[in-house]
Amino acid sequence: MGRCRHIGVVSLFPEMLRSIFNTSILGRAASKGLVQYHYWNLRDFGTGSYHSVDDYPFGGGGGMVLKPEPLADALDCSIDFLRELTGGETPRLLYPSPQGRRFSQPVSEEWSGSSRPLLFLCGHYEGIDQRILDGYPLEEWSAGDYVLSGGELPCALMVDAVVRLLPGVLSNESSPVNETFSNGTFDYPQYTRPRVFRGQEVPEVLLSGDHQAIRRYREEVSRRKQQAVRPDLGGNQASVSR
Ligand code: SAM
Repeated sequence: MGRCRHIGVVSLFPEMLRSIFNTSILGRAASKGLVQYHYWNLRDFGTGSYHSVDDYPFGGGGGMVLKPEPLADALDCSIDFLRELTGGETPRLLYPSPQGRRFSQPVSEEWSGSSRPLLFLCGHYEGIDQRILDGYPLEEWSAGDYVLSGGELPCALMVDAVVRLLPGVLSNESSPVNETFSNGTFDYPQYTRPRVFRGQEVPEVLLSGDHQAIRRYREEVSRRKQQAVRPDLGGNQASVSR
């Protein structure tokens, strides 16, 4: 079992993330001591009597931009905290952004395999002042080719994809190994009881007890679906081992 991973979030709406990270597998991972989540509310670093965090963009244009001072102060504070907690490890600084590289399963495998803490900076409104991106080694990662209103949901999906891969988080240790994407193909269709549901029967081969035949059947159906839907993945036929 690996040691506890630390994941920090700087956000205007940390409650959004707290509720997701406290639920189901992400919550159980924390209860088991496999991961610790840390939150910094950007509002606490706001300037002036209103704790302001945003302002109008120079040069005009619609919307508001997150100001550099609160972002820098929140980053400095959270980076120092995580460094101290982990005996000097520098967190990987992550900025969810539609302009980033596309997040994917191999990326989540890389992040989950490293002991470095992850620190997410969640943007909002029109985004963050460019000088923060220029002044800190922030990696920009995109959740996909669409624009969301904030970085909280992309952060949540990236954290979910990483935490479920940490050793000990999933009860069935082999389950991440054969999942969709892990072998360049899709997972196979799953069936459970009852054997007949509204007239639809479970494929006979799954009841046969013939493990070779079951493996061949699963490879074939997952390969057919993957080639029809995502031929770009390439596929790897010898993938079904459970
Ligand atoms: N004006 C920005 C643009 O067009 O590139 C979009 C800003 S968006 C409304 C506000 C914030 O949501 C961004 O700063 C980013 O943190 C987050 N965000 C939006 N879409 C995202 C995506 N596809 N992946 C990751 N983060 C995203």
